[in-house]
Amino acid sequence: MHRPALSIVIPCYNEEGCLETLHARVGAAARAAVGGDYEIVLVNDGSRDASWPAMQRLAAGDPHLVAINLSRNHGHQLALTAGLDLCSGDQILIIDADLQDPPELLAEMRATMAREEADVVYAVRRRREGETVFKRATAAAFYRVLERLTDTPIPLDTGDFRLMSRRALDALLSLPEQARFIRGMVAWIGFRQVPFAYDRAERHAGETNYPLGKMVRLALDAVTGFSTAPLRLASHAGLLLTGASLLLLIYIAFGWITGSAVQGWTSTMLVVVLLGAVQMFVLGMIGEYLGRLYIEAKRRPLYLVADIAGPVQGEARLGY
Ligand code: UDP
Ligand code: MG
Repeated sequence: MHRPALSIVIPCYNEEGCLETLHARVGAAARAAVGGDYEIVLVNDGSRDASWPAMQRLAAGDPHLVAINLSRNHGHQLALTAGLDLCSGDQILIIDADLQDPPELLAEMRATMAREEADVVYAVRRRREGETVFKRATAAAFYRVLERLTDTPIPLDTGDFRLMSRRALDALLSLPEQARFIRGMVAWIGFRQVPFAYDRAERHAGETNYPLGKMVRLALDAVTGFSTAPLRLASHAGLLLTGASLLLLIYIAFGWITGSAVQGWTSTMLVVVLLGAVQMFVLGMIGEYLGRLYIEAKRRPLYLVADIAGPVQGEARLGY
């Protein structure tokens, strides 16, 4: 099998207005970078407009173009996964279809990758043009909350626009989970990853395919995929409540001794407060186990090997 030097993977949902310009600009950027040795993988994620016929037309006229049609709308992250699974290049560029991420940056990203000997060059948004205040504010808040909740350092203000080496992509594809938050998973695999700052442009055509509902889902996938902090909440609350109930117990006992409490209040309060605290604590314990079970159930590889020095080099399969 011939591996092209470069694969460009583009998930598309209702992007018919962008496809033509996208194809021209991405093709030009690829030719400038690697000559003819590239492929463009377009994934149609169950578009409801004429994206698929447009892709077929483009594919008919360009031997470098592969178009994939998914059975229905699977969502951005899964459409991207489908494209990544199918592409075969040595380097892989992930880019949105709406040209918010300029394909012309490819040259600089490749230069950065070579200079830094990096496996991933991820694009960090310096500015965002033409996006609503609401979108920018929620995105900024999201990345910051995520950073506090997770153990994997997921870069701030970074989308999926990035250049990856083949071994980094193979590592990424070895993570089997269903709920995929790809920018987090790429951070998780490690290797050498360097940022690349850029200004995000306006959409070329059409409108955002990430309404609030999809953003919330992506955020939940991100948090639950990389953190069990929400589960831990119960055990922390339980501990706090236990402490508080001890203080309350002293107060209740004091009322009982001095005889100032109404008959029956003492025992009722004791039961309510203690049971509440114990229940919270036990729930938290269950949460701790559930969290670990969840992590196990994902069956992620335990580690990924970057390099091997010495005689095994060449025989060992790097990246696993
Ligand atoms: N996309 C997709 N499936 C979806 C939603 C979006 O493949 O269900 C693609 C879309 O075509 C675009 C990328 O994901 O290439 C990012 O979507 P969009 O530009 O709408 O998001 P935004 O830039 O507004 O966050
Ligand atoms: Mg966009």
